[in-house]
Amino acid sequence: MPPSYPSDAPASEALFARAKTVVPGGVNSPVRAFRSVGGTPRFITSARGAYLIDADGREYVDLIGSWGPMILGHTHPEVLAAVTDAASRGFSYGTPSENEVALAEEIVARVEPVEHVRLVSSGTEATMSALRLARGLTGRSRVVKFAGCYHGHVDALLAAAGSGVATFGLPDSAGVPSSAAAETIVLPYNDIAALEAVFAADGEHIAAVITEAAPGNMGVVPPAPGFTEALRRVTRDHGALLISDEVMTGFRCSRSGWYGLEGPYAAGAPDLFTFGKVMGGGFPAAAFGGPAALMAALAPDGPVYQAGTLSGNPVATAAGLATLQRCTPEVYAHIDAAAHTIADAAAAALSAAGVPHTVQWAGSMFSIFFCEGLVRDYDDAKRTSAPAYAAFFHAMLAQGVHLPPSAYEVWFVSAAHDAAAVDRILAALPAAASAAS
Ligand code: PLP
Repeated sequence: MPPSYPSDAPASEALFARAKTVVPGGVNSPVRAFRSVGGTPRFITSARGAYLIDADGREYVDLIGSWGPMILGHTHPEVLAAVTDAASRGFSYGTPSENEVALAEEIVARVEPVEHVRLVSSGTEATMSALRLARGLTGRSRVVKFAGCYHGHVDALLAAAGSGVATFGLPDSAGVPSSAAAETIVLPYNDIAALEAVFAADGEHIAAVITEAAPGNMGVVPPAPGFTEALRRVTRDHGALLISDEVMTGFRCSRSGWYGLEGPYAAGAPDLFTFGKVMGGGFPAAAFGGPAALMAALAPDGPVYQAGTLSGNPVATAAGLATLQRCTPEVYAHIDAAAHTIADAAAAALSAAGVPHTVQWAGSMFSIFFCEGLVRDYDDAKRTSAPAYAAFFHAMLAQGVHLPPSAYEVWFVSAAHDAAAVDRILAALPAAASAAS
C-alpha cells in the first residue's frame, strides 16, 4: 500500500470521486489511477507544448507525453491545423481516402523492410493482427513473447506483460482462457540460451516470436549485444516469423524507429513490424506491416481476415501524417539532447541524495530504475523500489512536473521541451531525490 499523499487538487479529487461512480476505478486505462504511487490522478483540462493544465488550473511540465505519441509536444499548431482541416471535411467516411495512402507511404519510406502497411486504430489491434497474420502464414499456433514486454491487451500476449500489469502486482490477467495462454511461451528477455532451447524442443509449432524492438514497458531494457541477431537467426532457422513491436520505439528512437538505429539488423530484418503512438500524433492510428509478399495474405487478397470501422480514419491519419512530416533530424537531435540533460541531472540528484538508481537508454528513450546495477530482464526490473519512486514522483508533482505514475515507465521527452521546461524539471530534482532517500 503506498503512503497517502495530500492531493492539493480539489477539482481533480471531485472529478475522480465522480468518475468512480460510473467508470471502473475512475479511469479508462488502469495505470492512470495512481495506484502504485498513491494520491489523486490529475484531471487534465488542456495541454500545450510541454505543459499540462489540470482542473485546478495548475500547470505541470509533462513527461508522460500521452505515453509516447506527443513527440512534437501538445497541440502543435501545424498538426492542429491539419486536424481542423480534416475534421471540417468529415469525421469518418468508411471509404478509402488519400491521407491513408499518404500515411502508409510515409511509413514505408521510413522503415525499409516494410513494403505494405495496414492501418488500424490501436497498438493492441496492430499486434493482435500481426500475430494472426503470422499464424495464418505459417499454419502454426504457438507464439513466443518475453517477460516484461507489453504488446497491448491481446489475450495471447498478456502473460508477464510489464508495466501496467506489473504496477498492479498481477502475473497475468483474469479472463484470458487457458487455451489462449497455452499457445504462448514466455521467455526471459535477453536470454539466448532459453530461446534456443525452446526452439529446439518445439520449433515446428512456433508461428512467431514477438518482441518490443527495445523494451520500454518494464522500464527501458535494451537488447544486449547479440540478442536481436539471435532472434533473427533462430526464427529463420525454424521457419517462424519475427515480429518487431515498434509501437513505442517507432518514429521515436529515430526517424525509422529502433530499426533505424540498431546495427544487429545486419543479421536480417524482422518479418513484420507493428507501429502506433507517434504515427497517430495523439489520435487513434496504428499499423502493422512487412514485405508485400507476406502482407498479401490479408483479406481482401488473402485468407487472413482483419478489418476496422475506423481504420484509416481521416482525422487520425491527418494528425499522424502532419506529425511524422515534422519529425525531422532537428527534432530527434533536440529530444536526444533534452533527454540526456534531464537524465544526467536526475542521476546526479539521486547520487547526491544517496538513492540507488540506474539509468537505461534505448536511443533517446530512457527510464530510471530505483535500484542498483544493470537491468537485463523483467526479474531485474522488479528490483526497482516502488516506494522510493512514489516519493520521488509526488515531490516532482508538487513542484509542477508530471512524471508517469508508475515506476516501470519511460520518461517521454518532446520537441517542445525547451530550455525553460527543462530548467523547471532540473530545479525540481534535488528536493524529489531527497524525498526518495
Ligand atoms: N506495444 C507496445 C510496445 C506498447 O508500448 C503498447 C502500449 O503501450 C502497445 C503495444 C499497445 O498499444 P495501445 O495502447 O495503443 O493498444
